[in-house]
Amino acid sequence: MKLQGRVALVTGASRGIGRGIATAMAKEGASVVVNYNRSEEAARQVVSEIQASGGNAIAVKADVGDYQQDRAMVERAIETFGKVDILVNNAGIFLDEKPVAETDPEEFIEVVSNHLFGSFHCARLVLPYMRQYDRGDIQFISSRNASFLPPLHASYNAAKAAMNALAVSIAKEERYNGIRVNAIGPGIVNTDMIHDWVLNMTDFKTIDEVSSVLPLGRMIQPEDIANLCVFLASEEGSHISGEVIYLRGAVGDEPPPYYLRRR
Ligand code: NAP
Repeated sequence: MKLQGRVALVTGASRGIGRGIATAMAKEGASVVVNYNRSEEAARQVVSEIQASGGNAIAVKADVGDYQQDRAMVERAIETFGKVDILVNNAGIFLDEKPVAETDPEEFIEVVSNHLFGSFHCARLVLPYMRQYDRGDIQFISSRNASFLPPLHASYNAAKAAMNALAVSIAKEERYNGIRVNAIGPGIVNTDMIHDWVLNMTDFKTIDEVSSVLPLGRMIQPEDIANLCVFLASEEGSHISGEVIYLRGAVGDEPPPYYLRRR
């Protein structure tokens, strides 16, 4: 098992990509803190599944944008498992598309607070613990949006681009402390978040239809991201730090094909 003896805190692990990462890391031997905000029942199911397969996990509620809640979550993780040596900053939201001229400051703050401040809070809180060990890993689930910066997504684009900058900055600061930090920028991944966007904002009638226009012929699955996260945190991935790894399906920074089908 690649992560035996490690302790992973995965934010937003009740559903979607975070759920996939939590499950995959537990399968490789890590004890996992399954963070959630609203979906308590779903988070408990993730914990039950991990335990049923012989793994260790707890569910902990915290709104990542709230520093005091994050502090309580990290303290609970330390009390339960003794350390946190893998942090995955995954929790995220996606609000309706709109131009900056029509975006309320509160909406902008909500998006930035969730993605960027939440990531900063959790990294800030776990770093002193990680420094006590030979190795630590922090992974940021960013987005392909941070590279092609589509219009009408400004708050999300700005938050994700800033997450990349934060990840690389921490990687440089912590390189002599054995802490590896990377950002992963997926294209569209088959989760609730993308179902909402595809069905409300594009002319696709079903999710399956989307696969036909994708460069590699299928949508990214949460497991694809989870496999990469496990690899980066494992011995095999130990020389990778300070990178932003995009999963764009071999297209560059141009708008992806699904984006062109927006209504
Ligand atoms: P999802 O299916 O909507 O799940 C979002 C997760 O984040 C849920 O577990 C949710 O927990 C949690 N969350 C939201 N706000 C939170 C908060 N304030 N505090 C703690 N947890 C919170 O979304 P997803 O597609 O898995 O997205 C996960 C990450 O990948 C996000 O950062 C997203 O921006 C990024 N991403 C997604 C895609 C994609 O195509 N799906 C592409 C690129 C990047 P509760 O339900 O418990 O509130």
